[in-house]
Amino acid sequence: MPDPQGFLRYERKLPTRRPVPVRIQDWREVYPSASDELIREQATRCMDCGVPFCHHGCPLGNRIPDWNDLVRTGQWRYAIEQLHATNNFPEFTGRLCPAPCEAACVLAINGGSAVTIKQVEVEIINRAFDLGYVTPQPAPESSGRSVAVVGSGPAGLAAAQQLARAGHAVTVYERDDELGGLMRYGIPDFKLEKRHIDRRLAQLRAERVEFVTSCAVGVDVPVAVLRARHDAILLAAGALVGRDIPEAPGRHLAGVHLAMEHLVPANRVVAGKQSATPIDHRAGSPGEAPGAGMVTAAGKHVIIIGGGDTAADCLGVAHRQGAASITQLDLYPLPPYERDEARDPWPTWPWILHEYPAHEEGGERVFAVAVQEFVGQDRVRAIRIAEVSVVKQDGRRLVTVIPGSERELPADLVLLAIGFDGTEEGPLLDQLGLARNPRGGMDCGKDWQTAVPGVFVAGDMHRGASLIVWAIAEGRAAAAAMHTYLGGAGSLPTPVDPAAVPLRA
Ligand SMILES: Cc1cc2nc3c(=O)[nH]c(=O)nc-3n(C[C@H](O)[C@H](O)[C@H](O)COP(=O)(O)OP(=O)(O)OC[C@H]3O[C@@H](n4cnc5c(N)ncnc54)[C@H](O)[C@@H]3O)c2cc1C
Ligand code: SF4
Repeated sequence: MPDPQGFLRYERKLPTRRPVPVRIQDWREVYPSASDELIREQATRCMDCGVPFCHHGCPLGNRIPDWNDLVRTGQWRYAIEQLHATNNFPEFTGRLCPAPCEAACVLAINGGSAVTIKQVEVEIINRAFDLGYVTPQPAPESSGRSVAVVGSGPAGLAAAQQLARAGHAVTVYERDDELGGLMRYGIPDFKLEKRHIDRRLAQLRAERVEFVTSCAVGVDVPVAVLRARHDAILLAAGALVGRDIPEAPGRHLAGVHLAMEHLVPANRVVAGKQSATPIDHRAGSPGEAPGAGMVTAAGKHVIIIGGGDTAADCLGVAHRQGAASITQLDLYPLPPYERDEARDPWPTWPWILHEYPAHEEGGERVFAVAVQEFVGQDRVRAIRIAEVSVVKQDGRRLVTVIPGSERELPADLVLLAIGFDGTEEGPLLDQLGLARNPRGGMDCGKDWQTAVPGVFVAGDMHRGASLIVWAIAEGRAAAAAMHTYLGGAGSLPTPVDPAAVPLRA
């Protein structure tokens, strides 16, 4: 029986992050592993509520109270079985998920301290790997059916694993030279060391998933070939079109980049995949081969525009590259430190100030400002900003500049981390005869099937830029629908349907 008073005996506590002066000298993860004692105490704080709202807060429906109790009693093998029952890759979510489950934890009511669910999750999978509990589970027999998965992010990999274990022959086609989607070259190592992806890929390979890298479907292999080779196709090609502000005066200046033009080369350098030679031009400018060098922050005054994960990752990378100064600009006002119950009642996701570990490492945050102009001759030398007020009207965002509030900030490098505009147009969709919806995503029916029979969609490509936990949930659900389409025996788990949304008031 869980300990109903555990939360009275133990305070919420996370392992201490590595010291800032040490960690910004390298690219390794910021959190060390927790001791057994700490993590068992933290799991003891779980009350095993009659209605576990945390479980509903997680798109995967993770069985959180069950594995908390197994950790409390030190039963690591059973804990990983429970965790794997709903989540193919807890080593990714346990490191990277923003943890809507914790916002929905009963202990978080009235500003209380939630169970450290995400930390318990990562400690279970860390120990499971160390203790040899993560082994391949190849299908006992083949279904004789074959599936192509386009894209190897968390959605594609989750679907591939589910389908392979159900006996289907799965081939994953990936445009990049390495597998993992945004987790590989988008998300820096200080959040996710790539050995975690490689370790999981070894399991998928042993489960007979085949991988074809450096292969853009629609370019290197026509869609018609995939249609002939496979009985069904899953599109999991992400939402990789970076949002831009082409109309902003001075956007053309050298030194103004989309965030991914900074992050991808930086991560490739860490992976030993490209040289660290800096480029001093905008990516894509004449004479500059893509990936030929990196957009470095070294010695520069860096401005990051945006307030989400991508912006925080640019911040952490810029610290490690040795920026002279870093300022992060946000259009919205400074959020409150605590949940506003009138606006976002528990157990929904609250609008509060999210401090990422990168913020602890330095840099200044400026809220409620908008870019007016990138200033310079050929290269950017400053950015002109103005204070603004933002209101939502009829679902639209109205931004009003406060007169007389304009000022300039010095800038040698400006990074636009203002979101993504959906999945890419081009040969893949053209050859399928599919078009993006007005939000840039791909529509599908209740069975995850697009307008083309036998072609399914999941993850960011369907939902728009979102989270790893949603990508895994959609990958699992789309795999279940494909299994049924292929005439597979029984059914696979379906954590979400295509219309699912986060918990709302
Ligand atoms: C910088 C950054 C930081 C992030 N941090 C977090 C975080 O901390 N926590 C979190 O939960 N989420 C985070 N996210 C979001 C998260 O990474 C995505 O929601 C998730 O990766 C989406 O998974 P996916 O499988 O749908 O697509 P992706 O991971 O985008 O993978 C799609 C794959 O498809 C491939 N592809 C595209 N077209 C083709 C083609 N024609 N042929 C073959 N392959 C193709 C791409 O190369 C890519 O590898 C972050 C995103 C970014 C950009
Ligand atoms: S996947 Fe995310 S939401 Fe689900 S239990 Fe883990 S941290 Fe919580």
